[in-house]
Amino acid sequence: MPEGDSLHRAARRLQALVGERVAVETPHPRAASVLAAERLDGRRLEAVEAVGKNLLLSFEGGLVLRSHLRMSGRWQVVERGAEKHGKPWLVLTGTEREAVLWNGPVLELTTRGMRRLGPDILAEPLDVVRMVANLRGANQDRELGDTLLDQRLVAGIGNVWKAESLWHAQLSPWLRLGEVSDGDLERVLAEASRLMRAALDSPGAKRAVYKRAGRPCPRCGAAIRSRGQGDDNRTAYWCPGCQTGKEPSGA
Ligand SMILES: [Zn+2]
Repeated sequence: MPEGDSLHRAARRLQALVGERVAVETPHPRAASVLAAERLDGRRLEAVEAVGKNLLLSFEGGLVLRSHLRMSGRWQVVERGAEKHGKPWLVLTGTEREAVLWNGPVLELTTRGMRRLGPDILAEPLDVVRMVANLRGANQDRELGDTLLDQRLVAGIGNVWKAESLWHAQLSPWLRLGEVSDGDLERVLAEASRLMRAALDSPGAKRAVYKRAGRPCPRCGAAIRSRGQGDDNRTAYWCPGCQTGKEPSGA
């Protein structure tokens, strides 16, 4: 699943086209049905930014193309005219290069002002004050791990970095928000930001707990556990030996 860090890498690649007028095509019929390419065709691409799990491409005239990659989407930047195997969703052609979107399941053309997301975990400076305020504004009976994935509170953290940042902060995903101090919230957010920032430069770094259920914790040696969490039942990974907090009942 593309997380905030992979979106930021895609945003970096796409900077190659910023400032250029681009030809816009939608070779894939599903993309053509959701996006009228002629509305964007020939406009200058003014900015590309990753906001949470969305890539926002701003075009002159205030049009913003929102691309959410879900599990399968991928942006690629290639030489202009490079051969393509299959039908990409979208091709933005500049003078020397092309940006190509493969399997982009969510594409939406909006105008400026789409911002219902919490502060971005990769923004600089990190807006920890607002993130903690958002978390304190949520129901304090909610589980910490679940709220870290709530993009309205903090944008950009996915399942991998939820698990890893909680392990680094030595906090259980099962703690209720009300049991967690502001200082501990700040720590886990800082860990998420630090780990995801590091992953921008070296995406393949080794994980401590994510997808390592049953294997020994690298810190204390206890067996790592996993269990579905939250309404979406995304799998949480944690070490019962060194992450503070009660086990969920029946885990
Ligand atoms: Zn441990």
